[in-house]
Amino acid sequence: MHQYVFDFSQGSKDDKDLLGGKGANLAEMTRLGLPVPPGFTISTAACRHYLTTGFEPDELHRQVGTHLAELQERVGRRLGDPEDPLLVSVRSGAKVSMPGMMETVLNVGLTDISVIGLAAHSGDPRFAWDSYRRLIQMFGTTVLGIDAENFDDRLEARKKSRNVDSDVELDVSDMKFLVQEYKDLVFAETGRDFPQDPRQQLDLAIRAVFDSWNTERAKIYRRQERIPDDSGTAVNVCTMVFGNLGSDSGTGVAFTRDPATGAQGIYGDYLPNAQGEDVVAGIRNTLALADLEQLDKACYDELLGIMARLERHYLDLCDIEFTIERGKLWMLQTRVGKRTAAAAFRIAAQLVDEGLIDQDEALRRVTGQQLAQLMFPQFDPDAPRELIATGMAASPGAAVGKAAFDSATAVAWADEGEDVILVRRETNPDDLRGMVASRGVLTSRGGRTSHAAVVARGMGRTCVTGVDALRVDPGARQFSTQDGARVVEGDVISIDGSNGEVYLGTVPVVPSAVVDALHGESVAEADDQAPVVDAVLRLMDLADQQRRLGVRANADTPDDARRARRLGAAGIGLCRTEHMFLGPRRKVVERLILARTAEQRETALEELRPLQRADFTEILEAMDGLPVTIRLLDPPLHEFLPDLTDLSVKVAVAEATGTPDQEAAELLAEVQRLHEQNPMLGMRGVRLGLVIPELFALQVRAIAEATAELRSRGLDPCPEIMVPLVAAVQELESVREMAQETIGDVATAAGYELSIPIGTMIELPRATMTASQIAEAAEFFSFGTNDLTQTAWGFSRDDVEAAFFPTYLERGIFGVSPFESIDAEGVGRLVSIAAWEGKEARPDLKIGVCGEHGGDPASIHFFESILLDYVSCSPFRVPVARLEAGRARLSDERS
Ligand code: PEP
Ligand code: MG
Repeated sequence: MHQYVFDFSQGSKDDKDLLGGKGANLAEMTRLGLPVPPGFTISTAACRHYLTTGFEPDELHRQVGTHLAELQERVGRRLGDPEDPLLVSVRSGAKVSMPGMMETVLNVGLTDISVIGLAAHSGDPRFAWDSYRRLIQMFGTTVLGIDAENFDDRLEARKKSRNVDSDVELDVSDMKFLVQEYKDLVFAETGRDFPQDPRQQLDLAIRAVFDSWNTERAKIYRRQERIPDDSGTAVNVCTMVFGNLGSDSGTGVAFTRDPATGAQGIYGDYLPNAQGEDVVAGIRNTLALADLEQLDKACYDELLGIMARLERHYLDLCDIEFTIERGKLWMLQTRVGKRTAAAAFRIAAQLVDEGLIDQDEALRRVTGQQLAQLMFPQFDPDAPRELIATGMAASPGAAVGKAAFDSATAVAWADEGEDVILVRRETNPDDLRGMVASRGVLTSRGGRTSHAAVVARGMGRTCVTGVDALRVDPGARQFSTQDGARVVEGDVISIDGSNGEVYLGTVPVVPSAVVDALHGESVAEADDQAPVVDAVLRLMDLADQQRRLGVRANADTPDDARRARRLGAAGIGLCRTEHMFLGPRRKVVERLILARTAEQRETALEELRPLQRADFTEILEAMDGLPVTIRLLDPPLHEFLPDLTDLSVKVAVAEATGTPDQEAAELLAEVQRLHEQNPMLGMRGVRLGLVIPELFALQVRAIAEATAELRSRGLDPCPEIMVPLVAAVQELESVREMAQETIGDVATAAGYELSIPIGTMIELPRATMTASQIAEAAEFFSFGTNDLTQTAWGFSRDDVEAAFFPTYLERGIFGVSPFESIDAEGVGRLVSIAAWEGKEARPDLKIGVCGEHGGDPASIHFFESILLDYVSCSPFRVPVARLEAGRARLSDERS
């Protein structure tokens, strides 16, 4: 028999796969003897069974019955009992937390009869009827699929008829009235009565949680967070405890350190006389956790003790949900808390200092993505700005954009390339698309633990919540502040997620202190960024000590080269030379390509040669002493020629107006002759170099002469010549022969030996499959994973991402674009075979990657696993690559 149901006393925090995160942590807290209301967890295996077959496992009903009976025995109350009913909550809990994405039903077990028992036993009829009202509402929306607005409308109408603002002001007669209204609504919408059998309520709620795994918003969240689609959720059935039993009750959320900044201290929100999701939903503004000390010192002290214990136990920032029921503290949940990027670095460093974790563990606790977030620009502190309101700093960063008052508008504007700030009273999971599309999120309600805050932090979006002064009117598509500022939809605002400030108009942004520090500039101790900067630098040091992979940069200007060097690049892994032939120089290249005579060709070359030499001199000088891989010209021929359509029009117009242009007509004929249907698969790279050998020869000579010149000035230039788009060793041999001859000529003229390694891009499937042959003619390989992905999948890299990737992502054909993160099974396998066979043929072969994947964290882990020598990425990504290369070394992914 398969066990699908586990008592809270049966598991531990290591059982997340089976019990989900919430269930495993409830079990852990139960094991630690903390005050957890008793309950049981239905495993993710049961959910997976349901999701694949459409039915709960046969044994589930009986196992739930057994555990329910035990639970009733333990607490001495029965579900639906007319005298003193047991009520339970039914909550989802996947392995990886998906905040607010899936369903929860509270107060399961209340019926027309048991509500009377609860009223009598609690001595608080209003509470009992309010709980029943909430059950019908939650059950109605999540289990029966009734639109939540139907319930809200009735509640609002009742508040209006009683002339009150808040539901707290409604009395027991209002609650009874609403219960009846809600029950009528359930019947009208479903044709059935609200179920009066508590066990049936429980079973239906469990099924609804299973079903909620596949809601649209849950799927979007999983895609965004790269959570596998097939892992399923566990369901936690837990004895209800009540925070809404009067002023000596309440519910709250606590953090053992500040999840926004990482500062040590007591952080959290508390809401007196409130139930369950009220705090997280951001419906009423909360008190700071510290205020609880005044309200209930005993509970506060107990909570602080538990927080300290949990942190020592989990060795990390914990976030906690708790409820106080008439002066008794209950722990409803804990988990290792989500945090901002800044907090992640600071906390990792603090925990090392506190002796709780070692340095390797600290490195595992931060990610390249978090580092990238810290490298985002921030508002210029010296720029003038018009502050209109201040709220909570919910997720850091500086965001500027047009105010949009609903998600659909935010998405539409973002699609048009606009920067958008989504402005809402509060967000709910349906706002996810809008949040993804926006630069930042601003809400008038909710605390640092509201839905908006939690989700924005997870996505790295700037977010400001709980701006009390803001009157958001989504109907009129505007907001105003108490001081009279008014922002209508489309007006630009700026929000600072690091201090909660909201400004009218655009505030200019400046680079982050972390970037300055990574560039080697010192940051003033008084700067409030100093603790983060300090933590980042420490962890970067650890990563550099750990890593085996070299990190170079893709740079083709001296400026970029210098920037990359300051950011820690160990050279240039890809210097693209095409821009050196475009702009004003394009005309010269055009003349070279279209030359009819040797003289015409030579004149064009004469013009280009000194320019090229200067290009290379500057870059090699900027990277003095470090390798610079210069790639010979790669782009398709048409990029150097006039546009075919423009030229055709010009010729046709000239003819039509009786002034034929002979020169243009001849040019057109030539352009037509050279026109390609698929230029990316056409005459580019080594093919162009073989058809017009003077081009490559020009570049090689310029490289050799630049090297000789720098050497004569006492510098140490280290160029490497790289041939693009090689598919067959013969292509490379041909270019190599030419290059060696040219380098030899320059060396002879200089009077000393010039050794310049010659290698190749590996960016075509055929090259990967003949790597051992190609290695004979190459001193190094550099995988061009952009072209390799394009050619292995047969995807046009310039077109497909917009054309059909959305469909592919939606269908789960891949979870992330293979142009962004290496497709390890396909393209990655080609890389790995070629690297292996290349090294076998030539043990001293140096192997790197210079496609976009060189700066992508997941791809870097893959390249470490197949033991490449280095990755090369854009200068800004260099620190991210250094960090991830260090982290990759710590994992066991090596093949
Ligand atoms: C590649 O193809 O991966 C590459 C680095 O070259 P490019 O992007 O310039 O084609
Ligand atoms: Mg390429």
